[in-house]
Amino acid sequence: MGKVISVANQKGGVGKTTTAVNLAASLAATKRKVLLIDLDPQGNATMGSGVDKYEVPKSAYELLIDEEPFNDVVVTETTGGYDLIAANADVTAAEIKLMEVFSRETRLRNALHPVRDSYDFIFIDCPPSLNLLTVNAMAASDSVLVPMQCEYFALEGLTALVDTVSKISAAVNPGLHVEGILRTMYDPRNRLSCDVSEQLKQHFGDKVYRTVIPRNIRLAEAPSFGTPSMYYDKNSTGAKSYLALAGEILRRAELSGANSESA
Ligand code: ADP
Ligand code: MG
Repeated sequence: MGKVISVANQKGGVGKTTTAVNLAASLAATKRKVLLIDLDPQGNATMGSGVDKYEVPKSAYELLIDEEPFNDVVVTETTGGYDLIAANADVTAAEIKLMEVFSRETRLRNALHPVRDSYDFIFIDCPPSLNLLTVNAMAASDSVLVPMQCEYFALEGLTALVDTVSKISAAVNPGLHVEGILRTMYDPRNRLSCDVSEQLKQHFGDKVYRTVIPRNIRLAEAPSFGTPSMYYDKNSTGAKSYLALAGEILRRAELSGANSESA
């Protein structure tokens, strides 16, 4: 069955979009069928997938507010080899309109219901806040992947996020849990990064991915060419780290599948 993962952190600039795009591309390269949903009105994941947010005829707005069929909204031509639900400025309007519609927390879940089993992985790139779009993402997800920079206030932000996950789990989506915590833009020469990283492991144990994403200029350059980094510079440490993360996620999924079968 398809796995739906929200990539979320209410802080901006921590590597959510970079993670969503590169992970989607890495898993698509392993022949998995992948869908990426851009829920950030900035549309960075859309542009980074080689889809022009100014030209795309339909976006998450049509899916969430007009309840248009998934197949009429999905974009199947991306540079990353995955399918895409695009975002642009219209998605800001969607956030406001969601407040007045029926079943406002579960619009995305309902929209994905008919197609979720046709994908191996569905990633949702969340906006940098805990608004109704993020609530929709989490209500539609099995789990939440949290990219974070190992900085001084990062742990505090993480507490707020974990709290939101618990609230959504209690209110609308009982199985929701933290999939994993990803250290991004990591610099092992920075003493503070190492300290925060240690604290993270103490608090969250195995939830912290072993794979670490280093600071790598290729990851920052690739979006301006409208492509995931593995198709921009496949030998870069950035591209390789996201491939390694994809491998780690696949292994974890297989392990938990095996465990639930034997249970
Ligand atoms: P978010 O979606 O959380 O706001 P982004 O993925 O857009 O964060 O990343 C913020 C900025 O940092 C972008 O310009 C992106 O290209 C850059 N960036 C992200 N990850 C890395 C990395 N590992 N190394 C270097 N630059 C990065
Ligand atoms: Mg983003």
